[in-house]
Amino acid sequence: MITILGSTGTIGKNTLSVLKSVGKQNKVFALSANKNINLLFRQIKDFNPKYAVISDKSNALKLIEFCNKNKIKTKILFGEKNLSFISTHKQCKCVLSAIVGAAALKPTYDAAKSGKKILLANKESLIMSGKLLITAAHKSGAILIPVDSEHNAILQILSSFGIDYNNSVRKMISKDVDMITLTASGGPFLNYSKSKLSKVTPKEAVNHPTWKMGKKISVDSASMMNKGLEIIEAAILFDLKPSQINVLIHPESIVHALVTFTDGSVISHMSAHDMRVAISYALSWPGRHKLKINLLKKFKIDKLSFHEVKPNQFKCLDLCMRALNIGYNAPTILNAANEIAVSKFLENKIKFIDIPVIIDKALKNMPINKSNTLKSILECDQSTRDYITNYINTKWK
Ligand code: NDP
Repeated sequence: MITILGSTGTIGKNTLSVLKSVGKQNKVFALSANKNINLLFRQIKDFNPKYAVISDKSNALKLIEFCNKNKIKTKILFGEKNLSFISTHKQCKCVLSAIVGAAALKPTYDAAKSGKKILLANKESLIMSGKLLITAAHKSGAILIPVDSEHNAILQILSSFGIDYNNSVRKMISKDVDMITLTASGGPFLNYSKSKLSKVTPKEAVNHPTWKMGKKISVDSASMMNKGLEIIEAAILFDLKPSQINVLIHPESIVHALVTFTDGSVISHMSAHDMRVAISYALSWPGRHKLKINLLKKFKIDKLSFHEVKPNQFKCLDLCMRALNIGYNAPTILNAANEIAVSKFLENKIKFIDIPVIIDKALKNMPINKSNTLKSILECDQSTRDYITNYINTKWK
């Protein structure tokens, strides 16, 4: 049985579509959403989960009314604590972490402590918590399967050697892997000049040329922040040094990652740019599903191009490398500042080119500390948000 945290988002919807396509719609234990009660209600009708969680009480009361009218037995809960209730429940073996941003950290960490198979789409929780999440998973026997297409591609490459992912993947990487390469489409503003970038609108930024994604990750892709966050994600997940992770611009988004082995062999993973490929593999791992969705039609390899990233080409990418090299709570500071900056950009309060300026400000001024408990991480996240909100309100009146 699976709990889907963030079922009304792009990843959540794609996951439900995959489950339907492979005849597993009766395997949904719980669903969750923030505000979108209409879609959540349609999903409840379609998938008949035991529980559904929504953030606010008022929305929960509306959903209870909808369910009562339609004689639906799903129990409706609300609030953050209940996200952890559904991510740790003993009847659920698998948890998809697909809430956007830092809000996913607590229920994902609790799922890791409870020994679940976690399909990790939400990269922010791993970036914020670093080794804490990994260590909790190792202690409880939880398995972290990456859903992010690049990391999922690395898992697919490494799993093709028949190794036991949870126990041997890090050993194999340290022994046999020289380097990994994450590809990046470059987003909608690739090759834009600074003056052109200063005029881009939120609508243009969320219009990604290849992937269909939620607003926050679309802006992150446009700024290359997403690729920087993915570098940190790869470093934590696969225990790689920053110098072992490379990025290549690949506008067609067909090759998702390449692994360079110590003998010079390079193995890559290709698929259509449709998240259902990675989601399906994460759900079926270590086997494969036969997807009824015809993704192969979308798979065109008539032209594949790759370009090196030039030094200082993407400010957000450089900031992520800086946070990774500083270590400790620097990735938490980086992530919190970015989340605030992106939401202010989407509200038209700041310009797109202000995003890296704001993150830089946070990295320079927030204290670096070595403590790595959930409490210290959440405190650092909150104090960075407060600091940056205040900075934006003062500077962009
Ligand atoms: P969306 O914005 O489309 O969906 C986010 C989901 O989280 C929705 O269900 C939303 O509910 C819910 N949510 C938002 N805020 C809160 C909150 N404070 N508390 C509880 N639930 C909340 O995002 P995506 O699906 O695009 O991305 C989800 C995660 O997956 C992100 O971390 C992203 O980086 C990662 N990811 C996404 C990829 C993609 O292709 N989309 C690819 C790789 C990784 P509601 O609908 O009610 O607002």
